[in-house]
Amino acid sequence: MSRLIVVSNRVSVPGPKDKAAAGGLAVALYAALKKYDGVWFGWSGKVVDNVKTKAYIAHSDGVTVATTDLSHEDYDEYYNGFANSTLWPLFHYRTDLAAYERSHDKSYFRVNARFAHGLAPLLQPDDLIWVHDYHLIPCAEELRGMGYEQPMGFFLHIPFPAPQVLLTLPNHQAIVRALFAYDLIGFQTESDLQEFEDYVLHEAGGEVLPDGRYAAFGQTVYADAFPIGIDAKDMSEMAWSPEAVRHHDRMRKSMGERKMIIGVDRLDYTKGLPERFAAFERLLTQYPENRDRVSLLQIATTSRADVPDYIDIQEELQSAAGRINGQFADFDWVPIRYVNRSYPRRSLAGLYRASEIALITPLRDGMNLVAKEYVAAQDPEDPGVLILSRFAGAAQQLDAALIVNPYDSDAVVEALQRAMNMPLEERCERWRQLFDNVTKEDVSCWRDDFVERLRKVSALKVKAVEAS
Ligand code: UDP
Repeated sequence: MSRLIVVSNRVSVPGPKDKAAAGGLAVALYAALKKYDGVWFGWSGKVVDNVKTKAYIAHSDGVTVATTDLSHEDYDEYYNGFANSTLWPLFHYRTDLAAYERSHDKSYFRVNARFAHGLAPLLQPDDLIWVHDYHLIPCAEELRGMGYEQPMGFFLHIPFPAPQVLLTLPNHQAIVRALFAYDLIGFQTESDLQEFEDYVLHEAGGEVLPDGRYAAFGQTVYADAFPIGIDAKDMSEMAWSPEAVRHHDRMRKSMGERKMIIGVDRLDYTKGLPERFAAFERLLTQYPENRDRVSLLQIATTSRADVPDYIDIQEELQSAAGRINGQFADFDWVPIRYVNRSYPRRSLAGLYRASEIALITPLRDGMNLVAKEYVAAQDPEDPGVLILSRFAGAAQQLDAALIVNPYDSDAVVEALQRAMNMPLEERCERWRQLFDNVTKEDVSCWRDDFVERLRKVSALKVKAVEAS
């Protein structure tokens, strides 16, 4: 059995006991690495003065954990620069926020080359390499250039943009060409795959071959949608853990007979938070019977706090929450509980279960795992209602949610009003469908599907190349 090599920007090794702290993705990948005697390679999280190409090696549970540092320049230009100020906004359709600097573009390729050089000495001939996300698109191209022929797969956790959006990136061709060094590309949804196909056919002058491979830039690659899931069983159980029960009870006690709408997001301009606050404000204006009957708990975990656009959104939200609360609050009721901190997933599980409604309205999101976690944590006898943006990848699977356009404030208000008054029978019916999906298409299924397909397509590709 070949070894599995996972390459991701951050390496997140779950602690020996607390699976809850690590998140479903880290746990699922780690389990596969244990099974296949694997290596996890990525950034150590450290920014140092002198970077060494040779990776730091540690061993845990039969898994080799290999990490490399970033220099201050790498951190500014590769991580905060090209990855998070160019690719992230652009791939989320925010061309207005996407900054482009040639020097950042160069650093992006340079750091990817260093990652490849750090990884190379650890590779064995029959390894299977799985690279994750937008930080590391050129990793395979670098490895191929060094002569490595192992099967290489790539999974994009964020959306793949429409060609007209991608074309605004000056080096779009270099980025897409780099994807063709892989054997298999995984996208979150069929729509992302479709956008990729449109680019290949109409911008790269490529074609789809009879066996399904995409051909362009003199290379071929397989691509498909692999919607990522959560560890649904674990989340369902977690919702009844002592810590979850404590959080559930504290929240219910603080609410009395009132209802709670929950939102849990990284503080990011893609998550539609100002629009969400505005829709909630409109609910209180248009349907005044909801005043003193419902609150919005918005947990917004600070992220990328040294990128200026993230400071702006933080200030905008603080002032919106202050204004709305100032206008509507009473001495014993606050409409928006805006919380700028992060909670362990075990606590979140209890808060999800205690909330009658989840309002998840990103303007664009690769998948949105919080939507799935909310479903998994519900009480089957009395489940809450999920309101979900049509622009979250999860909406393509979770169509039994109330699907909304987050730009249409009236539609979000109507969905909120409907959720506030939804009969138990309809809630149960919708939840059952959602829960079936979340449990069937869970994170282990996603991981195994991808790895299995990578094995298959790399064998097929070898045959196709030999035959040509
Ligand atoms: N999360 C958490 N604590 C918090 C807020 C979020 O553990 O206080 C977790 C949440 O449970 C989910 C992840 O962060 O697993 C967010 O994933 P999602 O796909 O929703 O959004 P992303 O941050 O990847 O854009």
